[in-house]
Amino acid sequence: SGVSKRFAVGRRVIGAARRMVHAVDGVSLCVVRGETLGIVGESGCGKSTLGRCLMRLHDVSEGSVVFDGINITHRSRNALRPIRRRMQMVFQDPAASLNPRYRVRDLIAEPMRIHATVPEREIGDRVARLLDLVGLRRGHMDRFPHEFSGGQRQRIGIARAIALEPDLIVADEPVSALDVSVQAQVVNLFQDLQERLGLTYVFIAHDLSIVRQITDRVAVMYLGSIVETGPTDLVFTSPSHPYTMALISAVPMPDPDPARRPRRIILTGDVPNPISPPSGCRFHPRCPRAQERCRAERPALRALDDGRDCACHFPET
Ligand code: SF4
Ligand code: MG
Repeated sequence: SGVSKRFAVGRRVIGAARRMVHAVDGVSLCVVRGETLGIVGESGCGKSTLGRCLMRLHDVSEGSVVFDGINITHRSRNALRPIRRRMQMVFQDPAASLNPRYRVRDLIAEPMRIHATVPEREIGDRVARLLDLVGLRRGHMDRFPHEFSGGQRQRIGIARAIALEPDLIVADEPVSALDVSVQAQVVNLFQDLQERLGLTYVFIAHDLSIVRQITDRVAVMYLGSIVETGPTDLVFTSPSHPYTMALISAVPMPDPDPARRPRRIILTGDVPNPISPPSGCRFHPRCPRAQERCRAERPALRALDDGRDCACHFPET
């Protein structure tokens, strides 16, 4: 909780001042075992950075990351190894995350070899079973990544991610590089694997209809902070933060009850530069409800009485 990540930005010229930008700023988030937590927000809002902080692929400058009761915030690479087995990441671009010179067999076996979880003579069998699980043919084991379609390559990435039988998978835009027709199949695969393997997911995405379909809870990010979190259904049908309202109202959602459809809100202005974020509520320059207090005072994430948290002085309830 309370994770912050600062990056140095600007030219790394000696003597030049390096300004700090809060890519992720004081985020508190918990993921419940067995659930799928969605993280949504416009690009550049810090979703991916937050995912990487959770995985400790980035160092965390403030706050803490606790995994299954174990504080891993400042663990060294070596001390992280036993934890790393239990948390895996699936990336947006499977082509970039798979070594093109490796055969599928070795790509999927690599994590098992690194962590020495499976004796070498059993690896072939394990790989075959993993291919079954992700819906690829065993006969494809000796092929190279370029011989597969984008969707198949993502299946290989998923097979790698589940090879060590992890508890948690952080998936960063795992279907957004795929054709729309293939996206649904890969989303179904995620759901199927969750059921079979008891996985917990953090699902980072900007596609709200997929997030609505696959997640139990959702966290909405704006400029590095979480502005609203709650049960997905509730957040989508009656968002309480003006930014969430705007995000959701911008996409057509199949909702049989027109009374429950959020009013359409058009966001004006650009996403502010995170190097010099606005005073007070960071959303105030674009918020249709902004008042004097919003410019002066930054709203904290507070619990509403319906099971969600919202960072707004004037939430819709
Ligand atoms: Fe809008 Fe004010 Fe709420 Fe910020 S605190 S979202 S500016 S109403
Ligand atoms: Mg991203």
